[in-house]
Amino acid sequence: MDGRFRDFPRKRPAPPHSALSVSVRQNRALMSTYGNFTAPIGSRRAPALRTVGTRERRSHLTAPRVPTVGIDIGGTKVMAGVVDADGNILEKLRAETPDKSKSPKVVEDTIVELVLDLSDRHDVHAVGIGAAGWVDADRNRVLFAPHLSWRNEPLRDRLAGRLAVPVLVDNDANAAAWAEWRFGAGRGEDHLVMITLGTGIGGAILEDGQVKRGKYGVAGEFGHMQVVPGGHRCPCGNRGCWEQYSSGNALVREAKELAAADSPVAYGIIEHVKGQVDDITGPMITELAREGDAMCVELLQDIGQWLGVGIANLAAALDPSCFVIGGGVSAADDLLIAPARDAFKRQLTGRGYRPEARIVRAQLGPEAGMVGAADLARLVARRFRRANRRRVERHERYARYTESRRSQWDSA
Ligand SMILES: [Zn+2]
Repeated sequence: MDGRFRDFPRKRPAPPHSALSVSVRQNRALMSTYGNFTAPIGSRRAPALRTVGTRERRSHLTAPRVPTVGIDIGGTKVMAGVVDADGNILEKLRAETPDKSKSPKVVEDTIVELVLDLSDRHDVHAVGIGAAGWVDADRNRVLFAPHLSWRNEPLRDRLAGRLAVPVLVDNDANAAAWAEWRFGAGRGEDHLVMITLGTGIGGAILEDGQVKRGKYGVAGEFGHMQVVPGGHRCPCGNRGCWEQYSSGNALVREAKELAAADSPVAYGIIEHVKGQVDDITGPMITELAREGDAMCVELLQDIGQWLGVGIANLAAALDPSCFVIGGGVSAADDLLIAPARDAFKRQLTGRGYRPEARIVRAQLGPEAGMVGAADLARLVARRFRRANRRRVERHERYARYTESRRSQWDSA
């Protein structure tokens, strides 16, 4: 746009013969073009606003206070909800995540159906999607999603075409971090790191009200930092990744190992699953730990300690003021977070000579990703209702006009 300003002649071009020989139409055309470029500052911004499109150009402070739809696409379920500007969920729907073997189109259809269903009852001004996968720096393509068939999938453009509203795509951990910063445990923090402990570890970095995505959009994959050289094999192909020691999968793996070995410490959980070791789940371990089962308490302590070690590494690299711990495993609360705090204090580089970051549990629970995606979508939202209302008003005015003309003819 700047280029266009500079290139445009400062003076109106001299008329070929005299001012009078310029036809009226030509003159009007010149004036209107000229007028566009010499308008007051306020209207000069108009072209920029018109091209906002699906790119994020606003801050959360200037985004319109309109309801938007947030969609969280996880490994097992798709959650969609209408969320208002204060983070309140107005309505929520769920669907199964289509199987990995299905084509990308099937997932798209699921999303479109959910949005259309919600827009029957709500004004939807934009749609935000938090996807469990790598999203490129333009936030258009999902580069890779371990639970879905998406490979370099231009999700944003596809959906924007089908839904006719602006669409924003982001990584699910980024969306959850945004939600915690806006409405949850991270409010008021300008340097925040979010760690989500689910089956693996997801992460996000927020600085000064912006998600830090890195040059290629894939920053925050903390789960695959190596913490134990030559350690447990990770599905990513490496060994000893952090998420092999501090995640829901790690918790269940350790419990199953002890139960399968028929260790006396595992008698409690073996009894609980009636000998069916494969039935052991993460939430079950948390529940038994709360009831005082010594092995389950110990396993959560181990996970928590590894969590603290990784957090100390992250503090060395990023120096945030606050770590927010979310994801399913964080339901264990202090059984997990207290050991994490202890390990963090013991491992932190420069300990005793630097302020220590807080480690807190996330507040928004499993809806964080959905709420965050919806709130991020407000950054690209357009006020459809107002535009539609104007269109309706114009149509009504025209209808009244033709009606009055007709009655004039009738009475004549
Ligand atoms: Zn890994």
